[in-house]
Amino acid sequence: MLDLAIIGGGPAGLSAGLYATRGGLKNVVMFEKGEPGGQITSSSEIENYPGQKSPGESGFDFMSTWWAQCSHFGLVHKWANIVGVRQNADKSFEILLEGGKSEQAKAVIVATGSVPRRAGFKGEDEFFGRGVSTCATCDGFFYKNKEVAVLGGGDTAIEEAIYLANIASKVYVIHRREEFRAAPTTVQKARQNEKIEFITSATIKEAYGDKSGLNGLILNTKEGERDLKVPGVFTFVGLNVNNEILKLEDGSFICKMSEGGQVDVDLKMQSSVPGLFAAGDIRKDAPKQVIVAAGDGAVAALSAMSYIESLH
Ligand code: FAD
Ligand code: NAP
Repeated sequence: MLDLAIIGGGPAGLSAGLYATRGGLKNVVMFEKGEPGGQITSSSEIENYPGQKSPGESGFDFMSTWWAQCSHFGLVHKWANIVGVRQNADKSFEILLEGGKSEQAKAVIVATGSVPRRAGFKGEDEFFGRGVSTCATCDGFFYKNKEVAVLGGGDTAIEEAIYLANIASKVYVIHRREEFRAAPTTVQKARQNEKIEFITSATIKEAYGDKSGLNGLILNTKEGERDLKVPGVFTFVGLNVNNEILKLEDGSFICKMSEGGQVDVDLKMQSSVPGLFAAGDIRKDAPKQVIVAAGDGAVAALSAMSYIESLH
């Protein structure tokens, strides 16, 4: 049986793994379905993690050293998509892997993070991956010297619009309100960029195109309908937390959840089920920042170690 199973290998899961292994836990496995690093690896830049030697480096570069450090202290990465977490009669946990296998653990830290939300306009699904994207660092280069659109008014949308303006000939930021959720300094920086045009109080009615991909967007604006002929649109309309693995067969959750579907934790990152912890974007009231996710992971690992100790 594992001492500790960590599910998710973003900043929260990796920090939990570092603290748990360095703290002396021997049998710690991090289940991550992809490369360790988490969603920040899709970001074009990060500049708000204290102590960064190169503020503004890509999220991928920023995270590139985290796994090596964890591995050095004995964290094991098991490449697996987890489909469920169940509690056994003896209060230990069963981790269900895709494909039917399972692993047993004394304690579990869930750090599955979140994924980009779909905006819901007509044609979004049809052209997803063929003009509609949620990752500027992945797909931005396809639009070199072309015009593109960005949907959303949060930090991600405005930061990625600035990034795209370095590649594209023009970036239209489409936002449904006049006010922005993004940090004022970020909005200010975007407003000073002559390649960025803001289209506010506007929504996307429809994306249109043909077999080769997206050709444009029909917008609903203050002035009426507008046809924006762009081959690419990047949608940054918020995140959905990855909580499916905590759902039981009857649709209820294994532990208490918040209204928004995040795990209800206390200051020790302890859920309502002893031995089950949550860290990072998946937990209630998460500010959705790398530094917070990393801090949560450390707290959860320390708490999990105390919990395991209390079992003896
Ligand atoms: P995540 O980073 O989401 O990691 C979760 C991991 O769990 C993923 O690797 C995923 O593959 C894995 N996983 C999920 N489900 C399963 C499963 N069932 N089985 C196995 N593995 C699973 N924050 C900042 O502080 N500064 C920034 O500048 C910044 N910029 C951002 C830019 C973008 C484009 C985005 C999308 C986010 C940005 N953020 C930024 C937010 C930051 O990335 C997140 O708050 C942080 O990554 C959350 O860490 P996490 O470990 O909780 O989750
Ligand atoms: P977010 O803050 O939730 O913003 C989502 C934006 O999309 C909002 O402007 C929202 O409009 C808009 N929106 C939502 N649904 C929409 C729809 N269906 N159609 C059109 N527009 C829609 O999401 P985010 O920008 O991805 O950020 C997520 C979290 O990560 C935040 O906590 C953020 O601070 C953090 N983050 C931090 C940094 C950083 O620290 N530098 C960088 C990136 C992300 P309304 O405003 O009208 O609701």
